[in-house]
Amino acid sequence: MKEQSAVVIGSGFGGLAAAIRLQAMGFKTILFEQRARVGGRAYQLLDRGYTFDMGPSLITAPSLLKHLFAIAGRDLEAYVSLVPLDPFYRVYFHDGTYIDYTADPERMRAQMARFNEKDAAHYDRFMKATQPIYEAVMQEGLGARPFDTVGKLLAFLPRALRLGAVQPVSRFARRFFKDFRHHFLYSFHPLFIGGNPFRAPAVYIMIPYLERKEGVWFALGGMYSLVEAMARVFLELGGIIHTATPVTHIVVKNGRVKGVETAKGFYEAKLVVSNADPGFTYQHLVDATYRRRWNDRRIARLHYSMSCFLLYLGVRQTYPQLLHHTLILSHRYRELIRDIFDRKILAADFSLYLHAPTRTDPSMAPEGGESLYVLAPVPNLLSGVNWKVEAPRYADRLLSFLENWGLEGLRAKLEVLHWFTPEDFAVQLSTPYGSAFSIEPRLLQTAYFRPHNRSEDVQGLYFVGAGTHPGAGLPGVLLSAEATAYAIAQDYNVRATSRTATWA
Ligand SMILES: Cc1cc2nc3c(=O)[nH]c(=O)nc-3n(C[C@H](O)[C@H](O)[C@H](O)COP(=O)(O)OP(=O)(O)OC[C@H]3O[C@@H](n4cnc5c(N)ncnc54)[C@H](O)[C@@H]3O)c2cc1C
Repeated sequence: MKEQSAVVIGSGFGGLAAAIRLQAMGFKTILFEQRARVGGRAYQLLDRGYTFDMGPSLITAPSLLKHLFAIAGRDLEAYVSLVPLDPFYRVYFHDGTYIDYTADPERMRAQMARFNEKDAAHYDRFMKATQPIYEAVMQEGLGARPFDTVGKLLAFLPRALRLGAVQPVSRFARRFFKDFRHHFLYSFHPLFIGGNPFRAPAVYIMIPYLERKEGVWFALGGMYSLVEAMARVFLELGGIIHTATPVTHIVVKNGRVKGVETAKGFYEAKLVVSNADPGFTYQHLVDATYRRRWNDRRIARLHYSMSCFLLYLGVRQTYPQLLHHTLILSHRYRELIRDIFDRKILAADFSLYLHAPTRTDPSMAPEGGESLYVLAPVPNLLSGVNWKVEAPRYADRLLSFLENWGLEGLRAKLEVLHWFTPEDFAVQLSTPYGSAFSIEPRLLQTAYFRPHNRSEDVQGLYFVGAGTHPGAGLPGVLLSAEATAYAIAQDYNVRATSRTATWA
């Protein structure tokens, strides 16, 4: 194949995966990242011996990573050490009870039987009901192929209805589990990818099945070691990375991509893959004349997911009551979610996720310490909260809450304290409304209804990452890279490598 040039805008997991695939397909690929380092939401923070992953912390589909590295002719194991976790996480409920969530059916059933025997008996039925949804998304190409034709939508719809994949996740789980703990455990997963469990379609209920089948893993050294490994593979294949180089404009002529303007000048390209948010890309990087479909009115109608307030705490103390992943829940589930997604108010109570990676990799903090991160889901910037004023107050409230909850002496032992607010998401990652997970995965923003992997407006423009099909989360964005590479292989008539026989 005559060498053709490609540009990738952004170096999140999706951008890096797309760059590796393009380079492996024979495109001479240049990746531009506006921040000082690669990684996007999976950034790293280092301070006084404490190492923090700033975003994703759970790996749920290692097979997708193995597959990506294999496409580049590499062994994942040679680049990064993945460690399985068991239990996956501990969930503390407001009444002091807890469940250690694991893939082991025996242990799950035994724990559930303490609260509701019927629920425990329904565990297998639940897994059986979610298996075909998992298979459709992960094995039959629903997630790994573009979902951009009405024909595909019409073909999938009857099956989706039959599987119950269109109803909200929460309702699907309610059919099996009556105890509030179990209902939460098997319906909250959309929150991991910015979805509201009470309206995200049950296609996302496959996550517990995915976790059970493939496990939950951690990368030694932190998730950032995976980012570095992917960047290394891309460079080894001959790709080029320019960090601290924002793309300011996608140059289009006669409806076709010609290249990009960057802080370092113009770069010509046959095709451009944007890992920046699709709404942002269309509105800020593509001239309005070329946007018949994705005009400003349509972009304004997109619903963006919630945001997060993150605290990174370096503490000279260990807290054994925290597992590697811990959830601490408020007494409110549905109402708190309403505050975050719909009322867009900062609630007085908290439901938190805590990451304590030192439980698996002690090298991530000085001896006898923890590098903790605390994630509080909060409304996106449509809330009107001024985070410059609110952040120190909110951090203080969180620290008090955690001390009262049982992390004694937290403030006294604190050596490092940083935060990341919805405003930081907006400013540092160019995410509309400071959303942590891009476009919300609700029914009419899923699959066919999400911005497509292949632009409908500009020839040669593609998308990868959380805002396109299939959606957010590490598995989602890795699948999006596969779907986008598939579209490019079709459009440019190049052979691509894939694990399925249906690949062009
Ligand atoms: C706090 C948090 C915790 C999470 N935890 C998990 C988890 O445990 N497991 C999991 O699977 N998922 C998790 N997720 C979701 C997952 O992290 C994201 O969905 C995924 O990392 C997003 O990847 P992406 O490819 O969309 O790119 P992003 O990470 O969004 O990166 C996009 C990149 O594009 C760059 N960019 C934007 N505009 C330009 C421009 N004009 N020029 C150059 N560069 C530009 C940005 O700077 C950024 O680096 C979490 C997310 C958050 C926020």
